[in-house]
Amino acid sequence: MNEAIYEKYKRAGSIASSAREHGANLIKEGASYLDVVTTVESEIKEQGAGIAFPANISVNELAAHFSPRHDDTALVFRKGDVVKIDVGAHVDGYIADTAKTVEVGTHTYDKMIRASREALNNAIAHIKADIPLCEIGKIIEDTIASFGYKSIDNLTGHSLQCYTLHSGLSIPNVADMLNRSKPNLEDVLAIEPFATDGAGHVISGQSSNIYRYQSSVRARFIRDTKARSLATKIHKRFNELPFAERWCADISSHPDSSLKRLIFAGCIKQYPQLIDANHGIVTQAEHTVIIHENDCEVTT
Ligand code: MN
Ligand code: MN
Repeated sequence: MNEAIYEKYKRAGSIASSAREHGANLIKEGASYLDVVTTVESEIKEQGAGIAFPANISVNELAAHFSPRHDDTALVFRKGDVVKIDVGAHVDGYIADTAKTVEVGTHTYDKMIRASREALNNAIAHIKADIPLCEIGKIIEDTIASFGYKSIDNLTGHSLQCYTLHSGLSIPNVADMLNRSKPNLEDVLAIEPFATDGAGHVISGQSSNIYRYQSSVRARFIRDTKARSLATKIHKRFNELPFAERWCADISSHPDSSLKRLIFAGCIKQYPQLIDANHGIVTQAEHTVIIHENDCEVTT
């Protein structure tokens, strides 16, 4: 990667990490999800970056993929909640993806929060060019097991490319011997271990309120002109990065039905909430790294 692209990854990383910390500090008993996500997202924009995906707020057994709707004003944090805040920023499409877990007002899950963080630290300490990613998965799984928890086996880290949040590689969170891939020099990866006292496996729940435009042949043949123009607007504004229902108020007067129509037409994907199958508590830690020959560099 050239110097200019490297600088963009670094800038996205520093903006995403300060937004993550700011957001995490706002998570208090009685604070609203909407306040936290809108503050985080405005901060990213004020710093001159783009929002790579809606700020995710996933509580307790919810591992990932939830962002409040525009009218979710009643959603507030409660004492004892275990909250994953997951934040993404990009500079000209070069993305930083980062997350941490905070517990609201109690310390019941300190050890589980430490388990995912230590697993991330150990993965970062070992990852480098050409290392089999199943070895990184084993390090993550073993670290989390050493704290007495399960690593979630069907959630993974991922490689990042310009305007692409999940490109080719998956970084497993368990010793997945079927994963034979190795990162290349200068690959940019998001590593994200999840620890749980539940099943160690997520299932899909209700809508996350998070969507993504996807180019498809079918999209070009939408006959409904209103739907077609909406699809064009969404593609123009969000590219193929995930977006929130909250961000569509000025695009459509009835976002719900419009988005549904576009899902039916096959040009928008809706993400489901991801929930531990036994409703265990889940913690997560995530950083974005650039792969070097003998180590890696954390951007977030
Ligand atoms: Mn993330
Ligand atoms: Mn990620």
